[in-house]
Amino acid sequence: MTLCRCLENHSWPEGKNANKYVAYVFPIGYPDTAAICPLCQRAGIIWLTEEEAEAFASGQRVFKMLTHSVWLKADDRPIVRHK
Ligand SMILES: [Zn+2]
Repeated sequence: MTLCRCLENHSWPEGKNANKYVAYVFPIGYPDTAAICPLCQRAGIIWLTEEEAEAFASGQRVFKMLTHSVWLKADDRPIVRHK
């Protein structure tokens, strides 16, 4: 399940689940995107687990979020690995 966070204030993920998010990708249209950071309402990027990062590398672009109310679609810009 992906995590949507802005790059300006709320990446990189911290806390008990942070180590499961290994990379991020950009949602369609970023930074003019419908994917919004729930913490500050800026444009968000899509954090991926290792399994999701591998799926992105294999061509998957639509990802489930922690909530099932919406999914996110990434564009084709290269994946960015967690430092
Ligand atoms: Zn934010």
